[in-house]
Amino acid sequence: MPKDFLKDCRDRYDVIVIGSGLAGLTGANVLAKAGYSVLLLEHHYQLGGMATWFKRRGGHIFDISLHGFPVGMIKSCRKYWTREIADSIVQLKGIRFENPQFSLRTSFDRDDFTRIITQKFQVPQATVDEFFDAARKMNFYDDQSTTTRELFDRFFPGRSDVVRLLMEPITYANGSTLEDPAITYGIVFSNFMSKGVFTFQGGTDRLISQMREELERNGVDIRIRSQVERIEVSHDRRVEGVRVNGRLIRCGAVLSNANIKTTVLKLVGAEHFDRDYLDDARAVRLNNSSCQVYIGLKPGVGFDDCGDLLFHSEHSGFDIDAMLSKQVSSRTFSFYYPETRPGSDRWLVVSSTNANFRDWAELPEEQYQRDKQQLCETTLDCLEKYVPGIREKTDWLEASTPRTFLHYTQHAQGASFGTKFEGLRVSQKLPEQIRGLFHAGSVGIIMSGWLGAVNYGVIVSNEIDKLLTPGGV
Ligand SMILES: Cc1cc2nc3c(=O)[nH]c(=O)nc-3n(C[C@H](O)[C@H](O)[C@H](O)COP(=O)(O)OP(=O)(O)OC[C@H]3O[C@@H](n4cnc5c(N)ncnc54)[C@H](O)[C@@H]3O)c2cc1C
Repeated sequence: MPKDFLKDCRDRYDVIVIGSGLAGLTGANVLAKAGYSVLLLEHHYQLGGMATWFKRRGGHIFDISLHGFPVGMIKSCRKYWTREIADSIVQLKGIRFENPQFSLRTSFDRDDFTRIITQKFQVPQATVDEFFDAARKMNFYDDQSTTTRELFDRFFPGRSDVVRLLMEPITYANGSTLEDPAITYGIVFSNFMSKGVFTFQGGTDRLISQMREELERNGVDIRIRSQVERIEVSHDRRVEGVRVNGRLIRCGAVLSNANIKTTVLKLVGAEHFDRDYLDDARAVRLNNSSCQVYIGLKPGVGFDDCGDLLFHSEHSGFDIDAMLSKQVSSRTFSFYYPETRPGSDRWLVVSSTNANFRDWAELPEEQYQRDKQQLCETTLDCLEKYVPGIREKTDWLEASTPRTFLHYTQHAQGASFGTKFEGLRVSQKLPEQIRGLFHAGSVGIIMSGWLGAVNYGVIVSNEIDKLLTPGGV
């Protein structure tokens, strides 16, 4: 008999959360703390969504998306999770850039960037101050037609070096480009610039296990290997429940952490929506995907201080096509020292590149394996420059591609950072189409990344609370 992952599930809950990414987990926690009965359904065997890790023979543990997030994560974790989680968040001090235009090391905050742009790139202090102020003042209700390119042209015309410094890390952090609305850049960039880049000490496995403990303390019913096939909606467009592993479970509200397009077009179905809304949902563009190479060093074997995050590039200027190309000339290295997991004797490197799904999607199996192997080899060639003797030091080597991300998170095209800006509006308007149906998860660039996902989970769970409160909207 196959195992019943829904054994002893109730027939009805106040809220069903589909997906255990950081938005889903946080939404479930906030709602359970508010006293609602919550069922959390995750198709994978592990919680966390993209906030994940994997273990390999020989004691290696690789983090997928623990490269860095803004300081705001401390406050959000203290308020919506636990003090213990918030207290494990620490700053990464060594951010490096190595490219044909410059080589530098920074703490990645406003003071240090101001120093670099004025002293190294010789831009007047007043211009730099004005730029930072303009970026910080941006908010969601501002003009959304100005692009990031126009923002840079206004302050740093003809300065591809300055643009590269300001833009490349943000493109790695959320897939945004110079053609995206400037507010998406301004909000995310300013979040980082307030205090720098932070990480979770202990690794993603520790974070997610602490989150799981807190969810269980608050009474969330957590089910893994539970694939939601359908969100059931009545004729008068109210959410009734979900069909999961072939079983119908009813609820007062659904919070979907699946991709917004999947939620609308597959889990609910086009027939339940207004025409205009459907057109908007169909038109939402997905963000790009990623490739990663995971390099585990032999036990006890390490490297000298390489910094924590290194933005390496071999092409000139900020060039989005080059950054996405399968002919990789641009990589972000995350260097993990034993302090990442105190008590460990492991040094690891994770190399990330942004990638187009289409470059990997249709490859025949043999070529797919060959191309993955080549990605591993070229990554080691490149890393040799920073970690001499890396080949002899390496104990474990493997790569993931957009196909891997699609497989584990079911995001269409393996999108790493959700959708482009227009996805946010479609996500926000969902409850106006179907009463009791909400979405939280990476959308609109602003709401992606660890901090964006956590905060969006909070915002949407407050909306659900309003709906479910007796006499609520
Ligand atoms: C390679 C990479 C590196 C990154 N690096 C960083 C970084 O350094 N810093 C940072 O802040 N962010 C980073 N990110 C982005 C960040 O990890 C994500 O934006 C964030 O974790 C997404 O959270 P989410 O809540 O949107 O959901 P997701 O993590 O996308 O999770 C959605 C969950 O829903 C589940 N699901 C979907 N459909 C169903 C269904 N029908 N039934 C049941 N379950 C379902 C999926 O299995 C998944 O667990 C990175 C992402 C990638 C891919």
